[in-house]
Amino acid sequence: MALYVYKFGGTSVGSVERIKAVAEKIKKARDQGDQVVAVVSAMSGETNRLVALAKEIQTQPTEREMDVLLSTGEQVTISLLCMALHELGCSACSYTGAQVRILTDSSHTKARIQEIDDRKIHADLKSGRVVVVAGFQGVDEHGNITTLGRGGSDTTAVALAAAVKADECHIYTDVDGVYTTDPRVEPKARRLDKITFEEMLEMASLGSKVLQIRSVEFAGKYNVALRVLSSFEEGPGTLISYDEESEMEKALVSGIAFNKDEAKLTVTGVPDLPGVASKILGPIADQNIEVDMIVQNIAEDATTDFTFTVHRNDYLRAMAILEKVCSDMGARRVTGDDNIVKVSIVGVGMRSHAGIASTMFKTLAEEGINIRMISTSEIKISVVVDEKYLELAVRSLHKAFGLDKKEQ
Ligand code: ASP
Ligand code: MG
Repeated sequence: MALYVYKFGGTSVGSVERIKAVAEKIKKARDQGDQVVAVVSAMSGETNRLVALAKEIQTQPTEREMDVLLSTGEQVTISLLCMALHELGCSACSYTGAQVRILTDSSHTKARIQEIDDRKIHADLKSGRVVVVAGFQGVDEHGNITTLGRGGSDTTAVALAAAVKADECHIYTDVDGVYTTDPRVEPKARRLDKITFEEMLEMASLGSKVLQIRSVEFAGKYNVALRVLSSFEEGPGTLISYDEESEMEKALVSGIAFNKDEAKLTVTGVPDLPGVASKILGPIADQNIEVDMIVQNIAEDATTDFTFTVHRNDYLRAMAILEKVCSDMGARRVTGDDNIVKVSIVGVGMRSHAGIASTMFKTLAEEGINIRMISTSEIKISVVVDEKYLELAVRSLHKAFGLDKKEQ
């Protein structure tokens, strides 16, 4: 007998038929003697529909009211799923985040879980019930409803799995696992049998949208074995866990991630003096614009060129701020480009192997792809290239690092 947390995303509970299918899946696990805590998202499209309703009334609704509104989506699915389970003769009980008591801080729309009371859950499981919990929501110490940020049901599931000490947390979704890259860009992408938390975290941060980033952080921190699998077909999915295998034996590169939401800005002719980086990036941070890659280069005339990337949505705002900074500090000019993408290779095998960067650069060079920026960490290398090269870059790297699916 095992204890599982199963999480079903929006498409998996997108219609009454699908909710019934989810109930069947849970019933099957129960019949085998396993215990199940199910976490569900709102029906697909529902959260967006609610956001749109709010925007019809107010362009900037308060975050507190947004949370009250958005949390209703998940409340619908928990009750419907329980009804479907009852219909199958399976004992089940639903709880909102506040009813469980998933205690969060008070940062509405992006709250963080602080504590989960597992007493009701354990009591229910013990008396043979399936426990169905609303994803994405919690309650703060004052009783206000909070939500965890878009895609937050993944985090609810992982946090619950940690709290109840589940054997595994299954994330059921519309894909059958984590792939070496997005199969829409490279049809030869393969499903990975397993991947480490670290790699998954990089993949998620670098643009792979399979799991919410925070849920992966949480899983790593509390060592919750996570499995991503399809709710529509049987299969082993991808296991995300710590890996005892020696790094020397590992594939060099496990996956290729990319992010299209990038833009870069450059200030040229910056006086080469202490404090310029902070003068440039300070006002950007003050406007809550997140900066990703940063490169600074000294030119021959003892000035520097300073380049960094931001989210494409922040491009014009960042540009306006820089124009002002540039004239204030007597730099030459500001240029920018929002037709760029970031392509990254990720793998813990990189740590113990040399020459991965040069293989990457050589591969891109052979395709005539110009690299505009580079950044590295222990287990990833990212490059910025022109947007038009995205597919070519991903496919050629996928092949170069031996990730292509074998011909059948
Ligand atoms: N329903 C929420 C959203 O659409 C949470 C989730 O699905 O994970 O973002
Ligand atoms: Mg989701």
